[in-house]
Amino acid sequence: MKNKGLLIVISGPSGAGKGTVCRELLRSFNKNLELSISVTTRKPRVGETEGVNYFFRDKDEFARMVEDGEFIEYAKVHDNFYGTPKNYVMSKLEDGKDVILEIDMQGGMKVKHVFHEAISIYIIPPTFAELKKRIEGRGTETEKDICKRLKNAYEELGHVNNYDYVVVNDDIKNAAKKINCILTAEKCRLSRSNIDFDKFREG
Ligand code: 5GP
Repeated sequence: MKNKGLLIVISGPSGAGKGTVCRELLRSFNKNLELSISVTTRKPRVGETEGVNYFFRDKDEFARMVEDGEFIEYAKVHDNFYGTPKNYVMSKLEDGKDVILEIDMQGGMKVKHVFHEAISIYIIPPTFAELKKRIEGRGTETEKDICKRLKNAYEELGHVNNYDYVVVNDDIKNAAKKINCILTAEKCRLSRSNIDFDKFREG
């Protein structure tokens, strides 16, 4: 992946504030960063826009895309399918852009399996009680959906050690700042450097 962009997986339970932190990161820090837009079979929520939040597709179309190998990974999350578009992500990385995948843990693990150099970050709220409060406070999910999301969050937290980093989202700006620091450090890794040290020594 030398000279190419960083592939960054950001996961965390619903209500951790991943979306807001990612938007803050894009707004305040890394101008070389792109957020991948996933395809989903979920219905749009009020205020969500096609091609901005997701590409909303029906189950048949999603199945066709799976069949045609159009996803880097896909997963069933809370009863809906979500997939990461391969062409978009690969072309951005080739162009040297850093690409964020805001995806669930199953998807995150699949990406890590294929792209060992991907950087994985798990975002959590300060407490589990705070998570519950945030999901309930959103008012966008039914009671049944809220229960499912909380149960999934509880189970997923048992596998958090699959990730490289954990960021506590106590404050949006602070969390975005921490992620920016992680990315800065990752870019300085010797394994990612394209400096020819033999030439460098010759002056
Ligand atoms: P929501 O329905 O709240 O937008 O997203 C539900 C979950 O699906 C979130 O945890 C989100 O990160 C995850 N998700 C969104 N896009 C993708 C994707 O392309 N692949 C996978 N595996 N998960 C995704």
